[in-house]
Amino acid sequence: MSSRRVAIVGGGNAALCAAISAREHGAHVVLFERAPFDLRGGNSRFTAGAIRTTYDGVEQIRELMPDLTDDEIANTDFGQYSEADFFDDLGRVTQYRTDPDLAELLITESFPTLRWLREHGVRFLPLYGRQSFEIDGKRRFWGGLTVEAWGGGQGLIDQLTEIATKLDVTIHYESRVTAIERNESKYNVRINGHKSQSFDRVILACGGFESSAEMRARYLGPNWDLAKVRGTKFNTGDGIRMAQELGAATVGHWSGCHAVAWDLNAPMFGDLAVGDGFQKHSYPFGIVINANGERFLDEGADFRNYTYAKYGSEILKQPNHLAWQVFDQKVLHLLRDEYRIQEVTKVSADTLEELGDRMGGVDQAGFIRTVQAYNNAIEETIPFNPTVKDGRCTNGLTVNKSNWANRIDSPPYEAYGVTCGITFTFGGLQVDAEASVLDDQGDQIEGLYAAGELVGGLYFHNYPGGSGLMAGAVFGRKAGLSATSE
Ligand SMILES: Cc1cc2nc3c(=O)[nH]c(=O)nc-3n(C[C@H](O)[C@H](O)[C@H](O)COP(=O)(O)OP(=O)(O)OC[C@H]3O[C@@H](n4cnc5c(N)ncnc54)[C@H](O)[C@@H]3O)c2cc1C
Repeated sequence: MSSRRVAIVGGGNAALCAAISAREHGAHVVLFERAPFDLRGGNSRFTAGAIRTTYDGVEQIRELMPDLTDDEIANTDFGQYSEADFFDDLGRVTQYRTDPDLAELLITESFPTLRWLREHGVRFLPLYGRQSFEIDGKRRFWGGLTVEAWGGGQGLIDQLTEIATKLDVTIHYESRVTAIERNESKYNVRINGHKSQSFDRVILACGGFESSAEMRARYLGPNWDLAKVRGTKFNTGDGIRMAQELGAATVGHWSGCHAVAWDLNAPMFGDLAVGDGFQKHSYPFGIVINANGERFLDEGADFRNYTYAKYGSEILKQPNHLAWQVFDQKVLHLLRDEYRIQEVTKVSADTLEELGDRMGGVDQAGFIRTVQAYNNAIEETIPFNPTVKDGRCTNGLTVNKSNWANRIDSPPYEAYGVTCGITFTFGGLQVDAEASVLDDQGDQIEGLYAAGELVGGLYFHNYPGGSGLMAGAVFGRKAGLSATSE
């Protein structure tokens, strides 16, 4: 057991997992959360709580969810998600740039980490609503994302906070860490620009730089300052900057980020009352058009999990940084819950001409031309099936749709206005598989660890849905262990 004093910077999933892990190994743990209590929990609290883990079948699902009834088990096909599946998905979507050591830690520790959280009392549920469809009377999971935290992101943060508090982790809110100075073998951690406290080890888990318009424009490029932020306003790159001041190396896709289709009229930062409800992720079942009325991406390139995180940046590149997702009656029953929230930018009409008029800022004639060309290009001999990549595609268009193509011909029609919502940034600190922060010689900076969004090297171009919470938990747990080792 360790008697070290460990400071944790951050208040989201990664920070709380790090705190629990360090504390269970005997350290004296103090967690500094920049946000006030009401806004605590970072981006983690905005999530739906979807967590990507490997599992070899229903028995491992039951280990995480001992409350599952026999009926639920009999009526559900959970499938499985192997380490090889997770490696394939992470490799494919990152164009094989993901750091193999970090990827291995994330994947091989995913299930053991959820089991660890379960042992601490965190409850999980099957992600029925968003990741399964009913086929022949049975719920069937698809896309490798099967587990959610009870109560979503808010429930997860509440449960982790309760566990940490019971373990005697000290939590300070409204405590922004503004500088970290090395003082021989100790770290002086400065809070809110004045008070300093001394620690043996520091774990940085305070998010990326997505909430700084200035850093977005600097690293992601022109117009990223105009993107809306899906989550917390507090992740302004502090942890990355403070670690760099201590000699840390940075790594990863600094001009890349996770960004999605987000309601056109959403506020500039996330709203905890709406959570992730501003996202609009059912585009695989319709078409997405820009202000010229033209399609500009393959809505059916892959399952939603493997395209949504890169399509926000495609929307940002369009005229006026906006797009509309268009659906007809045939597919409305497939739209996710977020399409039915009160705060939605939606128009509907009985004709395509009227719909074109009602979508603010869209060239109506261009839109009609696009729908006609699209309807005529569909390979209709292939049956539509939303649970598999059905291959029901278009042929001969400048931008084809690879799966789930259906004619847009059944009124009333609905269209949803979206813009780019940034989730988190991909570039960050270089760490090793011990979660130790490395310097630019590749050596560990003694006593300094990092976990969560501010770690670079895992994601490039794109991201497999549900990996953020998993990575935060795996690296947080590892950082807590490393910070307490001799
Ligand atoms: C709307 C939305 C939905 C999402 N849905 C999912 C999902 O379903 N599944 C999934 O896996 N991922 C999801 N994500 C991504 C996921 O939220 C992140 O990958 C993950 O939560 C990051 O955890 P973290 O602990 O690293 O960062 P955060 O949870 O953002 O925590 C960072 C913390 O650091 C604090 N902080 C910042 N600066 C300082 C400072 N100087 N001093 C002290 N504290 C500081 C912040 O206040 C915050 O509490 C979603 C994100 C958003 C925004």
